[in-house]
Amino acid sequence: MNGQLTIVGLGPGPKGWVTPAATDVVGGADVILGYAPYVNRLTPRAGQILEASDNREELARAERALELAASGRRVAIVSGGDPGVFAMAAAVYEAVEKNPAAADGVDIRVEPGVTAMLAAAARIGAPLGHDFCAISLSDNLKSWATIEKRLRLAAEADFVIALYNPASKARPQQIRSAFEILGDVLPAETLVVFARAVGRPDEEIDIATLATATDMACDMRTLVMIGSRATRTVQASDGRAWVYTPRSERER
Ligand code: SAH
Repeated sequence: MNGQLTIVGLGPGPKGWVTPAATDVVGGADVILGYAPYVNRLTPRAGQILEASDNREELARAERALELAASGRRVAIVSGGDPGVFAMAAAVYEAVEKNPAAADGVDIRVEPGVTAMLAAAARIGAPLGHDFCAISLSDNLKSWATIEKRLRLAAEADFVIALYNPASKARPQQIRSAFEILGDVLPAETLVVFARAVGRPDEEIDIATLATATDMACDMRTLVMIGSRATRTVQASDGRAWVYTPRSERER
């Protein structure tokens, strides 16, 4: 083997949600590449090189990481959450598909992390207790028609739906269109959870329904979760409430 390339998940934010294995990879790397906000979370040790880049340069970053690894270095690419969920691991394999020779002799590994959907679910109760799916609302890499179709069919199939990349400055309206499409299929009282900056100091978790969801603020740091027809709130007699989806289809 010439070198190593590990695509590492740093989790949604807090240090306690970074796995010991991810910490080992980051600590042992000669070069660490990634989108600036993730790279900026790290404190380099002496001799370690950190290279931050824009989030639109994922394929170029993957190609560069393969090159550095092929020259014998230990390279880590960092992603927030899990590196395989709408993130850099797939970009690395795209680079390999484009140029298979770039991977020759390189020990490529993926080190998993806690994805935003799981962190958000843990905060609110157990919304993912039955079948679920994840859809990215970003139309940078797919058409809006594809997104519409997946939303409609996921709602018809009665999945709990985790929406990644729900809104950005460039596309503030799409989440509203998504709620409209979902509202055509699902009852107005369907629960919608807005989990913003989970694990960060400015974390905010709000519960709405499909009828009220359009009034809620939502940005690139928000994970939106749409309940299935069985997702409900449950309350302790002291008033505390959670959102959960029963494990059994019979509990409806
Ligand atoms: N690889 C990442 C996802 C990258 S896509 C992961 O596994 O979590 C980026 C999207 O993830 C954001 O737009 C947001 O929807 C979600 N996200 C990432 N971190 C988050 C956090 N701390 N709180 C809420 N949502 C988050």
